[in-house]
Amino acid sequence: MTDYLVKAIDKTKNLRLLTITAKNLVQEAHLRHDTWSASSAVLGRTLIAGVLLAGAELTEKEELTVRLLGDGPVGPTVVTAKSDLTVKGYVKNSHIALPPKENGHIDVKTAVGQGWLEVTKDLGLKKPYTGQVPIVSGEIAEDVAYYLTKSEQIPSAVGLSIFVNPNNSIGEASGFMLQALPGASDKLVSSTIERINNLPALSSAFLDGMKPEELAKLILGSDCKILSKDDVAYKCDCSKKKYTNILATLKNSQLQEMIKEDHGAELTCNFCGNKYQFTENELKAILVKKQ
Ligand code: ZN
Repeated sequence: MTDYLVKAIDKTKNLRLLTITAKNLVQEAHLRHDTWSASSAVLGRTLIAGVLLAGAELTEKEELTVRLLGDGPVGPTVVTAKSDLTVKGYVKNSHIALPPKENGHIDVKTAVGQGWLEVTKDLGLKKPYTGQVPIVSGEIAEDVAYYLTKSEQIPSAVGLSIFVNPNNSIGEASGFMLQALPGASDKLVSSTIERINNLPALSSAFLDGMKPEELAKLILGSDCKILSKDDVAYKCDCSKKKYTNILATLKNSQLQEMIKEDHGAELTCNFCGNKYQFTENELKAILVKKQ
């Protein structure tokens, strides 16, 4: 099954909903970073949150970065999503597995810990905009909903789900983001929240073959309108040119040290693990160009 994001609106046009299935996307992140279960759950949920936010809020050529800065064992998690619904991300500690919770679920809250959730939007203006809220739950979905409600004044509900197989591969990844627009009545919002509270567990529903369109109908009602259906993917946009530009921002003395002592440099992309080698001559050329 391919990964895709569905945008839908309720019949009164006052509720906006995005639903997503993203198993391949999270599996790609798992393979690139060799994540163990708790790291997969934290990175996977944050990746899905990033794509949902991008789908809800970005227009052409814009991007946003979600930073989950908790003090738990997984460490900081960073995800960048673009308006074309591609996303990349990493966790500081990819080899974290924790004892399961009583209900058998991955203990995401403990893996994340206490701290801050930050969302930075680069909308092509001079300065990117950053909003920050404390981590209130650690389960990530509630934290993203809290961020939207507090920082962007958009009353929201978010669900994020990752199922990790016993061999650490990703069995299922899905989610939704509901946003109430200014015209939404209290009655409409409360009846929708009630439907969300009565949803089946996302993991088992998607493992059983549920599709994002079906989830949209369960949340908004069968008379909701599906507006679009778009592919989503894990994609890193790094290149040797990008790392050349990064090296050019270093101090001359740092570049000279790399040339003299290391006779070259190797840089690894945090987001995808690709390695970029620079020879002594390439470093010298960067140094000459700077002057
Ligand atoms: Zn990369």
